[in-house]
Amino acid sequence: MTRRNHARTLGAVALSALMMYMTQKGAAQDATKMVQDNQIAAVLQQVSAQRIQEDIAKLVNFGTRLTLSAQDADSIAKGRGIGAAREWIKSEFERYSKDCGGCLEVKTDSFTERPVERIPTATEITNVYAVLKGTDPVQSKRIVLVTGHYDSRNSDTLDVKGDAPGGNDDGSGTAVSLECARVLSKMKFPGTVIFLTVAGEEQGLNGSRHFAKMAKEQGWELEAVLNNDIVGGDKSAEQDHSVIRVFSEGLPAAASEQEVKRIRGLGGESDSGSRQLARYVAEVGRTYDAGVKPMMVFRLDRYLRGGDHYSFNQQGFAAVRFTEYREDFHHQHQNVRTESGVEYGDLPKFVDYDYVAHVARLNAATLASLAAAPGPPANVHILTKDLENDSTLTWDAAPGAASYEVVWRATTSPEWEHEQNFGNETRATVKLSKDNVIFGVRVVDAAGHRSLVVVPTPER
Ligand SMILES: [Zn+2]
Repeated sequence: MTRRNHARTLGAVALSALMMYMTQKGAAQDATKMVQDNQIAAVLQQVSAQRIQEDIAKLVNFGTRLTLSAQDADSIAKGRGIGAAREWIKSEFERYSKDCGGCLEVKTDSFTERPVERIPTATEITNVYAVLKGTDPVQSKRIVLVTGHYDSRNSDTLDVKGDAPGGNDDGSGTAVSLECARVLSKMKFPGTVIFLTVAGEEQGLNGSRHFAKMAKEQGWELEAVLNNDIVGGDKSAEQDHSVIRVFSEGLPAAASEQEVKRIRGLGGESDSGSRQLARYVAEVGRTYDAGVKPMMVFRLDRYLRGGDHYSFNQQGFAAVRFTEYREDFHHQHQNVRTESGVEYGDLPKFVDYDYVAHVARLNAATLASLAAAPGPPANVHILTKDLENDSTLTWDAAPGAASYEVVWRATTSPEWEHEQNFGNETRATVKLSKDNVIFGVRVVDAAGHRSLVVVPTPER
């Protein structure tokens, strides 16, 4: 590249940063895009708002799904309480599995939580999940996961008797996990997909914490966690039904002191695994027409709030949170009632089922893209032995790779802006200074599926 071209490239980087600054919500103007997989596009059409409506109605009809509510045989038979909800979710996964010739393995992760704040007596908590095992012996070790919490609450987190409909929080997220399982079980992927619903979220993320620890202890290659919590698109006047927020942590919760030091030194604050996952979701949103645009929010979660993605972040896994654009706090964590003309409570009539279906499509497209793609490259390094204005990156050959792509962006840009394919080389030199941009590497398979991006660590 000539000096002049070089200057032009840097000019283009600055221009695209400006354009992105000017684009407030949704996709950036100049950002990388994937190749659409027609099979994935077709399966997204099978996501049904009607199904989602039925699933949420069913969940609400259990009266309360408070983690502390009844789960004995009698309450299950009567269809009230968290035990009945759990059994129904299990039976739904089993039904989907029957429809695909037993392709799903339906499992539970049960444990007894000792008394802690918000759990007055020892309580059994059960996560329910379905595994769509990958078809490739090597790739199937890689796992991508979608989750929502099926427990609910009203104004009092200890009220075991009163109604807690939880239509939006988090009937909507539970319905996303179920609907993703129903449609994706009709496909086959080299990688493994897990469809999870957890309990205990409202008591203190107890279910997801147990599950994430299990994944860590058992050495799962868990690449991505999509947490859907409050994705109902509450029909309040100021709702934006075209946008879904995607929250991701910056500084990783699990980063060691040494890693934090490197992040501080090299400007890696916006390059956690979770943020690469958020960028991947944004790119999927540009590639497939899900009906809703992801809006990345560069923070762990909303003010004063938390969610199950954090349990996974704490164990070092990349995890993001999907939440509707504008929440109506009258419709969350509230007893069902009307006061001074204001309706309180998390009733299904406030949920926009088309919106939930759009969010489910975005989730399904992300899970499918990741499960179809090769795993991210390992040992990605940028050479820093000499002071020079070119940048040389190296990485290990990855199973399933047809080629490798180096991506980069201005240090001030939220998204990957440029890509260059280097065939099946595992070393690349780009005529740009590593001091001026942020680089990443991803793996591409023969059909064009992209892996998650890995940002290089310096190597002398
Ligand atoms: Zn929630």
